[in-house]
Amino acid sequence: MSKKNLFVAIVGRTNSGKSTLFNRLSETSKAIISPMENTTRDRNYADIFWQDKKFTLIDTGGMDTAAKDPLSSGIFQQVNKAIEQADLVLFLIDGSTDILPQDRELALLLRKLKKKVILGINKIDNFKKEKLLDQNYHQLNCDHVAIFSALNGSRTGDLLDQIITLLPQQKKNPEKFYPSLKLAIIGRPNVGKSSLINAILGEDKVLVSPLPHTTRDINDVEFIYRDHKFILVDTAGIRRKSRVGDWSNKMIAKIEKEGVHASMETLKRADIVALVLESQMSISSQDQALVELALEERKNIVLVINKWDLVPEKDETTINAYADYFNQKLPFAKWVPMIFVSALNKLRVKKILDLALEINQQANMQIAEEDLNQILAVVLRKYKPKQKMTITFGQHKSDLKLNFMKQIKTNPPVFFLSTPKPKNISPAIVKIIEKEIRNKYEFLGVPLKIIIGKE
Ligand code: GDP
Repeated sequence: MSKKNLFVAIVGRTNSGKSTLFNRLSETSKAIISPMENTTRDRNYADIFWQDKKFTLIDTGGMDTAAKDPLSSGIFQQVNKAIEQADLVLFLIDGSTDILPQDRELALLLRKLKKKVILGINKIDNFKKEKLLDQNYHQLNCDHVAIFSALNGSRTGDLLDQIITLLPQQKKNPEKFYPSLKLAIIGRPNVGKSSLINAILGEDKVLVSPLPHTTRDINDVEFIYRDHKFILVDTAGIRRKSRVGDWSNKMIAKIEKEGVHASMETLKRADIVALVLESQMSISSQDQALVELALEERKNIVLVINKWDLVPEKDETTINAYADYFNQKLPFAKWVPMIFVSALNKLRVKKILDLALEINQQANMQIAEEDLNQILAVVLRKYKPKQKMTITFGQHKSDLKLNFMKQIKTNPPVFFLSTPKPKNISPAIVKIIEKEIRNKYEFLGVPLKIIIGKE
């Protein structure tokens, strides 16, 4: 008999970084994030796999946002349930500020409930021991302490190790784990989406049953391919009308006009969007609207050009000619890979899945700060003469100065560019930086975001 599921609840006052930590731990580990009962939209639970063990992480962050005054009883009532359910509580405090009365109240509550607690001291980017010793963390009376930065991820792996050690023993490898990937196949009617899905599923795939807590949609189809669990999102929805969700009115009007709105919710739920086009060398406004949607939602994307069998007299230049055509028609998405397939002949159908895996891997890349700074140096070296302006890297004085760049998030990747004068960074410079990042790391099919700030 395997033991019941183990739960770890993250609690802490507002702004201690609960959701950031939840996201960080679920990204660091191989997490399956899923809505559970009473949380139809919020993703408050993640199944975390670490060192061959599994536990369910609960983020109480979403629960306390309603409480205007964090000291009010509301917050405690709401987190109480999560705490009761938990085998271990991760009590989070903001290590960059002093201990607050709310922290003390929460510590008291945890002690009353006699829970096993790790005191998580968050927002410690630079490990300065002396500073930490100044703080009277012992006042909070926790047996176990972990120090980390949820934002940049430093020492969060150690935290996961510590959690596993403190949780009750469980059987190794409770179930074979496959990282999952939600793939949405979208496109205009009649481009061959259903045929593609059938071609994909018609092969030697193993269908799997849903794991506990992965309340997959009834219309999703799961299968294992190359040790990954693929979830084809809303396969039936391709033919039925879908709910509208919370898209901007302008976008809804556009999509409804284009008659492709079944794709909207599907797209939103996906990790990777496969936009299917026909090989007739025609791109419609519907296709463009779908690409726009994918970009607006910052989804990983691949263009699948179907019905390749209908293209007559192909030679080795044909694909390039087609690629040029589509690139020209969709100039805003040059980094989007294309694959030419035939659902009818099952040509390169499996390659769509291989490409999706590659895109997923690239979307999860974490680039080190020193490598990003090298890219800034390349940008300065290469583009300075053309830009006809002085860009200096580091200490030198000039109109435009780039301090450093770091990656603050993966999948989709977000970079932070620090400069003393953010206003001086034109969109053209941002484009140049993105181009250089892609030159070096490709980020095939992956949208990039660069945030500019002072810091
Ligand atoms: P959906 O509306 O996008 O799901 O499109 P369907 O899968 O229903 O396909 C529409 C039509 O295109 C059907 O008649 C299919 O047989 C045909 N079709 C789909 N894929 C291919 C292909 O690769 N080659 C050819 N020649 N026809 C295809």
